[in-house]
Amino acid sequence: MTLPYTLSRWSLADLFPSTDSAEMQSAFDDMDSLVSAFEANRPRLSSEISTAEFLEMVHQLEASSSLAYKIYGFAQLSFAADTQDQAAQAFLGRVEQAMASFQNRVLFFSLWWKDLDDSPAARLMADAGDYRYWLEEMRHFKPHTLSEPEEKIINIKDVTGVSALHNLYDSITNRYLFKFEVEGKVQELTRGELMVYARHHDPDVRARAYQELYRVYANDGPILGQMYQTLVRDWRNEQIDLRHFSSPIAARNLANDIPNEVVDTLLDVCQRNATLFQRYFQLKARWLGMDRIRRYDLYAPVAKSEKRYDYADAVDMVLGSFNEFDGRIANLARRVFDDNHLDSDVRKGKRDGAFCSTVVNDLTPWVLVNYQGRPDDVATLAHELGHAIHSMLAAHHSLFTFHSSLPLAETASTFGEMTLIDKLLAEESDEDVRRDLLFRQVDDSYATIMRQAFFALFERQAHEMIQQGATVDELAEAYMENLRNQFGESVELADEFRWEWVSIPHIYQVPFYVYAYTFGQLLVLSLYQQFKSEGEAFKPRYIKILSAGGSEAPVRILSEAGIDIYSKEFWQGGFDVLADLLDRLEAIPVAA
Ligand SMILES: [Zn+2]
Repeated sequence: MTLPYTLSRWSLADLFPSTDSAEMQSAFDDMDSLVSAFEANRPRLSSEISTAEFLEMVHQLEASSSLAYKIYGFAQLSFAADTQDQAAQAFLGRVEQAMASFQNRVLFFSLWWKDLDDSPAARLMADAGDYRYWLEEMRHFKPHTLSEPEEKIINIKDVTGVSALHNLYDSITNRYLFKFEVEGKVQELTRGELMVYARHHDPDVRARAYQELYRVYANDGPILGQMYQTLVRDWRNEQIDLRHFSSPIAARNLANDIPNEVVDTLLDVCQRNATLFQRYFQLKARWLGMDRIRRYDLYAPVAKSEKRYDYADAVDMVLGSFNEFDGRIANLARRVFDDNHLDSDVRKGKRDGAFCSTVVNDLTPWVLVNYQGRPDDVATLAHELGHAIHSMLAAHHSLFTFHSSLPLAETASTFGEMTLIDKLLAEESDEDVRRDLLFRQVDDSYATIMRQAFFALFERQAHEMIQQGATVDELAEAYMENLRNQFGESVELADEFRWEWVSIPHIYQVPFYVYAYTFGQLLVLSLYQQFKSEGEAFKPRYIKILSAGGSEAPVRILSEAGIDIYSKEFWQGGFDVLADLLDRLEAIPVAA
């Protein structure tokens, strides 16, 4: 592709021409025969199996999984590009069903593997090369795995149990329309459209946006709260009673392969640094001309900069900032454009927000953004391309080991954003825009570090309270107390924020997911600090972390880079970077 880059829709042709193509039909047929061949291996599974035979089965599983991911990826990406397209919707439904059956048919292999004694398992892993960590990580679940019929029953009952509740939660909350007066006219907005006003420069508009948001959620508060109680009970019944995890959060920690004590340390250090953001909110109050900010003002802009970036310029800036860091990284990002794997324009029916999807290790990832020219949109572009770079650097690993684990998944994306912001700051001469960029950086750090850490703390408490029979109102009160601890005296808290927790999909869909954001962002702050002080010497170490993908335990990947995630000091280091930034902001005289 030649410059300049233009807003466009992506192409999925590297996967399939269309849902009804001959290629798609034969992919389904091939997948079925691959799975049948794999199933035929069952009688050969024994503790005496030879390494060659065993690895041949792993390769078969990888080949059928790769095909399954391509079909599923095509279905998901087509749907994201147009959620109103009924054909895409129906195809996604058909594929989801096919994936569940695929999983159940190959389940016997992982169950056998987890059940195998240590010594034959060690023998097979010794020669498994790149598959070793994947095999090892599966066996961590050995003490928490049930028999095949039990596991199958859980899978089947989940479709109409927790998954059905997740879908209902989505259906209920995605239908919400928010009434909001804009320029004298009452409009009906989606949540995404409404929340743009949380960053409005008029304090009254910000307050009205939040009041409307929680008016609607509070209306359904008791029913959404009841759904949450049910999901939490299901989690306990399965993870504690049936699978014998030591605590509700321990089940997530093992899936992330992060030791329990690391997560405890992380959350403790966050609680001890709550005062740092309180200091920031006090500074923000001075810039906004208030004695004390309200919760409504958390993301208020301190300058009225209306700076917009043309798409071609934005792409140049992002690629330029990558290139200044490392030419190889910029070339990988460029591949996403050259392969036409980036969906950038705003269209009706296209999915909101942004994401990067790596379907399989041997294809360039796909990136979706809704580019509108705001500084945020430029940062988002850098963020999602960072994800793509991470995947491509690890593409030489197997399908099962190239994806990094959740807590490391935000490393390249956040790092990419930070290099971009440094470039913008270096090139921007308008003081208002510069200040806006710096404040936004702290706003975003608050949202990804402290806010998520306090969500996780709330989840930990809520799981215990529900076990003790807490009511929805008692949970809402506990949530208010959580916010008071987080903000201290620095933020005035209106009562409707007691319903915030029922509006957070993550705590419904993936319990304790949220601390991965805290982990990732603090890690990147420390890495970025190392980059600043070491320059060139840092780069190979950083690229090594990314290239490892998911081929090794996060603790080991990071310790090889000299990072000890068990230590309090390491996590404190991330907050120290923010404290320096805050010092710089406090030194700027407040404009009248
Ligand atoms: Zn991300």
